[in-house]
Amino acid sequence: MSSGDYSYETKLAHLSRPPVRSHGFVNEGVFRGSTVLQESCAAMDANGKKPAVERMTTYGTSGGPTHFALEDLVAQIEGGKHCIVVQTGLAAITLPLLAYLKAGQSVLMPDSVYGPTRRICNTLLKNFGIETVYYDPCLDAAGLEAIWPANAAVLFMESPGSHTFEMQDVSALAAVAKKHGAKAMLDNTWGIHHFQPFKHGVDVSIQALTKYVGGHSDVLLGGVTVNDTAEFEVLRLAATTLGYYASPDDCWLALRGARTMAVRMAHQEKAALAVAQWFTTLPQVKQVRHPALPGAPGHEIWKRDFTGACSLFGVVFDERYTEAQIFAFVDSLKLFGIGASWGGYECLALPTAVTRTATPVGEARAVRFHIGLENVDDIIADIRQALVHLPA
Ligand SMILES: *Cc1c(COP(=O)(O)O)cnc(C)c1O
Repeated sequence: MSSGDYSYETKLAHLSRPPVRSHGFVNEGVFRGSTVLQESCAAMDANGKKPAVERMTTYGTSGGPTHFALEDLVAQIEGGKHCIVVQTGLAAITLPLLAYLKAGQSVLMPDSVYGPTRRICNTLLKNFGIETVYYDPCLDAAGLEAIWPANAAVLFMESPGSHTFEMQDVSALAAVAKKHGAKAMLDNTWGIHHFQPFKHGVDVSIQALTKYVGGHSDVLLGGVTVNDTAEFEVLRLAATTLGYYASPDDCWLALRGARTMAVRMAHQEKAALAVAQWFTTLPQVKQVRHPALPGAPGHEIWKRDFTGACSLFGVVFDERYTEAQIFAFVDSLKLFGIGASWGGYECLALPTAVTRTATPVGEARAVRFHIGLENVDDIIADIRQALVHLPA
């Protein structure tokens, strides 16, 4: 199928499927392999020198047909040209950081960044002589310009921020990075499909495919997408050099998940908005952090830049509740699992723990909710029964 002309839902149903003449089955197979046989010694030599984009691989670590099928699909969802799938969402973050940063340089990180991203900055990158400068995620272009370190080679963004959901003005911030010759990277996991990174000046877009693409909480996988073939060659070589590799079985599961992602996400978006809206009516609640909710923090940026939302949001409860009360509330939810990650078909709740370097935390009594495919009335009834632990 020629991809340009079809809508997102149609692409998810048709892209990256095998030609009818190959084996006749609807879906591509799982290709597991280390050795990639060559026609001759001369062909092996020639293939080894070809650009990665030609996919004339000489070893399994550069990926195979199952990887390529998923990579093509993810590149299309992200609106970019090339994708590299790697073993986890976190590996999709560390790959471009390691590929683009050198000792003596610095990286700008939003203070709201996903916790494990903060950990690699504060440990391994620091050990390699790379400094991290944390910035207020709500900075505008002038604010970023004012704190821009002369040695910054990467501007990292994540919008909305993990747990606290601050929206970033990605276009404006990416323009500052471009002016300084730095790479603009975005963790676009929350915004998948609804935010098109390459229309906003992003150079490298990161996806935890573990979330809605996998969609069933049974796979870990990441995607690094770029819109420039030269960048792809740099990142592809870095992935092979580091031995980053996704299991073809996991890629196959993610391809299967992607086929139904549009309907799952549309349903979960509506359900999450209904639950978030209901939370705003409760006397126990101080703030609902759902960027798609009118009046919520960052809503104006969301409205300007996004075509929709996912089903992950935060609820800040009144300060009068103790941590023990919040834990008792979460523990007594029956339909919500307690656990990290999100994007599956099931509801999850997780008390929020935030770390900050550049900006004050402000609140401690928040819970992050992920809304799954359960019935909305059942979900609300479940939360209502658990509220006995948070007397109004
Ligand atoms: C989950 C997540 C990741 C990491 O994905 P894993 O596959 O769990 O390593 C990265 N960024 C964000 C925003 C996430 O929510």
